[in-house]
Amino acid sequence: MERNNRLFMVIPCYNEQEVLPETSKRLLEKINNLVSRDIISADSRIVFVNDGSKDNTWEIIESLHAENPVFQGLKLSKNRGHQNALLSGLMTVKDVCDVTISMDADLQDDIDAIEEMLQKYMDGANIVFGVRSKRETDTFFKRYTAESYYKLMSKLGADTVYNHADFRLMDSTALSMLADFGEVNLFLRGIVPMIGLETDIVYYERAERLAGESKYPLFKMIQFALEGITSLSTKPIRMITELGVFIFFVSIIVLIYSLVRYFTGHTITGWTTTVLSVWAIGGLTMISLGVIGEYIGKIYLETKNRPRYIIGKYLGDEEDKDKVSLRDVKFK
Ligand code: UDP
Ligand code: MG
Repeated sequence: MERNNRLFMVIPCYNEQEVLPETSKRLLEKINNLVSRDIISADSRIVFVNDGSKDNTWEIIESLHAENPVFQGLKLSKNRGHQNALLSGLMTVKDVCDVTISMDADLQDDIDAIEEMLQKYMDGANIVFGVRSKRETDTFFKRYTAESYYKLMSKLGADTVYNHADFRLMDSTALSMLADFGEVNLFLRGIVPMIGLETDIVYYERAERLAGESKYPLFKMIQFALEGITSLSTKPIRMITELGVFIFFVSIIVLIYSLVRYFTGHTITGWTTTVLSVWAIGGLTMISLGVIGEYIGKIYLETKNRPRYIIGKYLGDEEDKDKVSLRDVKFK
């Protein structure tokens, strides 16, 4: 199939001054190679989204853009997190390009998989998921927690792609559909599979971070994991109901037991069970309220309808000026 092939790479960057010089060099080589072989058009671009970095990330992006217009920069007004940064990049360029590929700035995703992704795009795919075939470079802890998480998500009914993070190709059709998802609690790897269309998978090996350190410390990772569950699945609420039913049955057994004790004249010994059940029920009530609270919090944020990101600046092509979407006008 012949398809138009202006590619935009979208790369969120938060405090990535250590890796950007190397990342930009390798990506440029890749892009030049693909252009010279006519796989992508000559006006393809690499967009670095600066997610409110505190270091020199933006200065580096500016000088890259000044040296070579193939590099573009998008500056968010403040740090909005990986998912929002990625979304802002995709939404800004969705009408000027034919196809986008998103990846991390630290080159943990294999840039050699790009070509295969583009091949699948040429064959008609609207979305191509990059899936890690191995996780040998991750620590045992990260691999174990991540893999159990994917399994948990699928048990909870969320349709995520196993071992797929945010390394993916999306064409302009898929992006215009993504624009219709107006949620503030954003978990892209859960939303994109909901779009449907023609999808495909490319396997790659996840490498070590090039330099600098992970911007996802354990605490942030747990938060992100919970975000994923509560924004995609309402099963935890159902589980509370089930728990309630279970406890109800237990209490019937306790009732029968205490009546038996009463009629056999052993009432005073019931003290232990009373204390235990008060604590158990109290604890369960707290947990249940907490889970419900999580969802109410989500509803609260969604109803505010706040913009998910605010763009401070865009270093792009003059010719594309009328087509770029520089504001997060509520998409719906
Ligand atoms: N990132 C971002 N905003 C944030 C945190 C991270 O844009 O608030 C970017 C970061 O620059 C990188 C990507 O998200 O390009 C993934 O982050 P990282 O590599 O630190 O995560 P890990 O691979 O350790 O899970
Ligand atoms: Mg990384």
